[in-house]
Amino acid sequence: MTFETLTLLPADPLLALIGAYRDDPRPSKLDLGVGVFRDATGGTPVVRAVKAAEERLLGSQDSKSYLGPEGDAGFVAALAPLVLGGAVAAERVAGVQTPGGTGALRLGAELLAQAGVTRIWIATPSWPNHAPIFTAAGLSPQPFDAYDVADQRLDGDALLAALDRAAPGDAVLLHGCCHNPTGIDPDAALWTAIAERIEARGLVPFVDLAYQGLGDGWDADAAGARTVLAGCRYGLLAYSCDKNFALYRERTGALWTVAPDAPASAILYSNLLALARANWSMPPDHGAAAARIVLQDPALAADWQRELDAMRQRLRTLRQTLSALGTIGRIDLAPIARGKGMFATLPLSRTQVAWLREQHAVYMAASGRINIAGFDEAGIARFGEALAALDHAGVA
Ligand code: PMP
Repeated sequence: MTFETLTLLPADPLLALIGAYRDDPRPSKLDLGVGVFRDATGGTPVVRAVKAAEERLLGSQDSKSYLGPEGDAGFVAALAPLVLGGAVAAERVAGVQTPGGTGALRLGAELLAQAGVTRIWIATPSWPNHAPIFTAAGLSPQPFDAYDVADQRLDGDALLAALDRAAPGDAVLLHGCCHNPTGIDPDAALWTAIAERIEARGLVPFVDLAYQGLGDGWDADAAGARTVLAGCRYGLLAYSCDKNFALYRERTGALWTVAPDAPASAILYSNLLALARANWSMPPDHGAAAARIVLQDPALAADWQRELDAMRQRLRTLRQTLSALGTIGRIDLAPIARGKGMFATLPLSRTQVAWLREQHAVYMAASGRINIAGFDEAGIARFGEALAALDHAGVA
């Protein structure tokens, strides 16, 4: 094996899109590509309560000495009841802080591999980083079609049929809410059916909850995760605070495990610590420390929830405005009102996506995924005009 065997890899397409957008001089340009929340001015501000917590941290922190592989235990302890809502007995749950939701997914993937799990079922399309993360940890992703992008619909039967095909002990990846990239989540009945199927077939649910509070509301957004994790023997929950606390680059997340009882939970926890130690030794502290201060202070927590409510309301309003455009050419925007969170995926070909960028300065992922938060009212009108022009030009 030599370095000469390595090949040049293409840059991450979404990161390349950021550069292209930045360099585009057209004032009407529209950035629907990158997956960060934007407010009405197009900014991604620091959450007020986080800013206040950071100021406190600056004034009071008297050491930056090492913590441990578990990270900020106070952060994990304060967040756990808010996320799980008491759905799973505390003795069955163990958790550690991780570098973002990505770190949580990677750590969970390695725990699965360590436990001898070899396959993880992933409904497609999914977040493009899911399959690489599981592959890197030595698992074999089992993709299956479940989202009908043209109709913007989740095919629950296809999802349940995949769970029937999975072998006992296989893992199943589930987006907790605000599915990335479609915005289409299971309804309560489907979550119940998924939970029953997972329990009956002895599968291991791995829930990825990266957008709690940005869909239907704090508890509603965790309801599916709670249903599934309450019913399983073993399960995992990867969590990100990078969207709902707007901590993005601070890389703030957590991984929780669910086990049948306290002794089994202690075993999982000890394995999480060992795996974390071999990966990053300990996670970065700042974001989790700031989030902990917010969570432990009722006034700051209330203010954070108010700001999160406003983010969710903005997304909902934008979805309704987009949806009201109805059908333009062959693209039906009406279902966007039913979607949750930041993303929707439109049935556009790569050629059409490129044409929209070149001719109308509309920047979106090649998959047709749009970030709803990238719009303002004027942008929605421009987007509608661009779609009409696309249809008129007959670009396929
Ligand atoms: N899961 C999903 C579905 C995501 O969309 C993202 C972020 N785009 C993550 C996990 C990772 O989040 P983080 O930035 O906290 O690593």
